[in-house]
Amino acid sequence: MTTLAESAAKRLQATMRGPVVADAPLAPYTSFRIGGPAMLLATPAEREELKRALAFALAEGWPVHVLGGGSNTLVRDGGFRGLAIRLDAFRALERRDDAVAAGAGVRVSRLLAFCCRHGLAGLEILSGVPGTVGGAVWGNAGAWGGAVADVLASVELVTAAGEERTLPRDAIPFGYRASGLPTGSVVTLATFALTPDDAAAMRRRISGYLVRRNASQPVEFRSAGSIFKNPPGEYAGRLVERAGLRGTRIGNAMISAKHGNYIVNLGGARAADVLALVALARRRVREAAGVELELEIKVVGED
Ligand SMILES: Cc1cc2nc3c(=O)[nH]c(=O)nc-3n(C[C@H](O)[C@H](O)[C@H](O)COP(=O)(O)OP(=O)(O)OC[C@H]3O[C@@H](n4cnc5c(N)ncnc54)[C@H](O)[C@@H]3O)c2cc1C
Repeated sequence: MTTLAESAAKRLQATMRGPVVADAPLAPYTSFRIGGPAMLLATPAEREELKRALAFALAEGWPVHVLGGGSNTLVRDGGFRGLAIRLDAFRALERRDDAVAAGAGVRVSRLLAFCCRHGLAGLEILSGVPGTVGGAVWGNAGAWGGAVADVLASVELVTAAGEERTLPRDAIPFGYRASGLPTGSVVTLATFALTPDDAAAMRRRISGYLVRRNASQPVEFRSAGSIFKNPPGEYAGRLVERAGLRGTRIGNAMISAKHGNYIVNLGGARAADVLALVALARRRVREAAGVELELEIKVVGED
């Protein structure tokens, strides 16, 4: 018997070349390696196919989730009852004078290597930040006091209604780990305004950031990066540590012993384990410091 997901996959597949898979496991597409399947997972081959996939979801009344590198995402154990979209085919990378245009599916590490080869500086702070250009723009990824918004020139996107738009940097209300881009829109390309520099000096900066990162973060475990946003003037990790939670374990998830703002998957953790640690950390920090921690990671799907 054909399931609802299988019949929907067939209908959407008939409109596009990129693969459409029913009941597709999402855990392999996340850095946590946690979570259930998506009812549909589509990988559009180009922008028109992306528009068709969005139109399909709109017509069927299905929620859409755009997966970048899944490195800031926790998929719940029950999976996602909707259409997940991967932008693997959006991998163009091009120098335009002193700017670089990068497709949303380009890995940040590849973008950095490209910038180094071309001696174009400005994005080195992102060294060691996993994920894609789309995810980095969407969440205004940053580190060491800088963020994507500092060097972004413009963004191309497709709205949930299927309209193509190009937004200059000044039209995007970036904030701390947020872009404020229109809800439901999909970033397809970003252009960064960079500064010519010596490639060797750039590589030295990149390695310096990596050394600092490896010394302070549990990079040896699967995680989704910082779980909570830093409250104004404070570090979420420090608050969690002061609440005595370093190394606390629920199931196979653990608040890192190395960094209080990381929850790590020790192997086979469930989303429910991670969310139980999140609830515990929030409660204990509220009690101990009177601070309400806000999630930085995106939680997707159903229990
Ligand atoms: C070890 C480790 C270290 C990390 N260190 C940092 C750090 O220093 N600084 C930092 O900021 N983050 C850090 N992170 C978190 C994460 O890497 C970043 O937030 C990253 O930018 C997320 O990109 P992604 O492609 O993986 O996004 P995903 O996790 O796939 O998606 C995140 C959000 O962006 C949306 N999204 C993704 N692509 C698009 C698109 N094309 N269009 C519209 N929406 C989109 C998703 O729907 C979701 O809401 C770290 C993570 C790990 C695992």
